[in-house]
Amino acid sequence: MTQQARRTRSEEYYKRAVDLMPAGVNSPVRAFRAVGGTPVFFTKGAGPNLYDVDGNCYIDFCGSWGPLILGHAHPKVVAATHETALNGLTFGAPHAGEIALAEAVREANPHLERLRFVSSGTEAVMSAVRVARGFTGRNIIIKFDGCYHGHADSLLVNAGSGLVTFGTPSSAGVPAEFTKHTIVAPLDDEKALDEIFETHAGNIAGVIIEPVPANNGLLLQRPAFLQYLRKRCTEIGACLIFDEVISGFRVALGGAAQIYQIKPDLATYGKIIGGGLPVGAYGGRKEILNHVAPLGRVYQAGTLSGNPLGMAAGLATLQILRDSNVYDQLERLGARLQQNLQKTFDRHGARASVVRQGSIFWMNLAPGTPPRTAAAIDAGAAARFTPLYHELLNRGIYFGPSAYEVGFLSAAHDESHVDALVQAVDAALASGAGL
Ligand SMILES: *Cc1c(COP(=O)(O)O)cnc(C)c1O
Repeated sequence: MTQQARRTRSEEYYKRAVDLMPAGVNSPVRAFRAVGGTPVFFTKGAGPNLYDVDGNCYIDFCGSWGPLILGHAHPKVVAATHETALNGLTFGAPHAGEIALAEAVREANPHLERLRFVSSGTEAVMSAVRVARGFTGRNIIIKFDGCYHGHADSLLVNAGSGLVTFGTPSSAGVPAEFTKHTIVAPLDDEKALDEIFETHAGNIAGVIIEPVPANNGLLLQRPAFLQYLRKRCTEIGACLIFDEVISGFRVALGGAAQIYQIKPDLATYGKIIGGGLPVGAYGGRKEILNHVAPLGRVYQAGTLSGNPLGMAAGLATLQILRDSNVYDQLERLGARLQQNLQKTFDRHGARASVVRQGSIFWMNLAPGTPPRTAAAIDAGAAARFTPLYHELLNRGIYFGPSAYEVGFLSAAHDESHVDALVQAVDAALASGAGL
């Protein structure tokens, strides 16, 4: 694509869209507010590529924000979905597809003794938090600054002014009373954890964390911190909840629980588990899940939960992940990307580092060692990202439109796509998208 890539049709669609939907989008980060300009409207995804309404082709490193570990329209996933659709889209009653996906999920994640399917990551987290509270009979949930867990009211929280204070709502429309049982802790800080646990031990229902925090840059944690969290939760009888909505089936078939060898009491899934369709799940110890209705008194339900299409797309995806060497391939590709991109940044004297866990990567456009906490993230990176983003977009590279979003590799990417990204960054930096 030339640097004068035309996106006039996207602009026309955008004009219609803003008249229909807030900012023209159905999820805020799609709106290009962080980088300026008009969102791109797409018509087609195929393997590693996206095609827009003006006929431009992009190499996609957004991957629909995580689900597309096999790339767009993988033939086996499409075929499974198609065949399933021919027999009806939803039953609102049990079917074998739910069992097949549940078995595949549990086989990869044996700590999920029982699980339940829902329709999004948000729903999975909201349900897991409710179950943790119902099981323990306690109210307080601890979350970490810099982790995102979807948009359930009680988790839309900013850190309070003191360490052991309760958070305040981060969204309008959430009464302060709804977040008064949520405490926001800093990542990477055992002492802060101790302080909170000492003050509130008997009231803490659960601690929720993205074990691979990938929604505010990529804030890779020390394994020792996660192990400490596990130990302290066990000591006070609080549920450790791993939010694996991104990391599940992404960093390994068994997610972060596998790579860190830590068993959470509850875990939540989304994104990859539905192979591109709206599926989420929560699960964990049998003793805890036995509290879910109708076995127990924690209510949770869903008209389209476990719907045949989502189950089929998820199963087809998980089978390929299980039966091939996708994770080795992604690790090699990721390592190539990290090394060559870092070299390119260094050659241009750009103050930036490439942070990576398997196929998740983040261009940290700031000097110094990569951050482990939200507070250590450089707020200036956003301004540096904007010119780079548009240079890359015009060179046919598609990322999520924010400096603090990670990129994803898929099994549909190969060396040529990674090298094209590196070359595009090289050219962008040469043409003055200075960092
Ligand atoms: C995407 C995400 C969610 C929310 O999932 P939705 O399907 O968007 O509701 C929750 N937690 C994490 C870690 C996520 O990345």
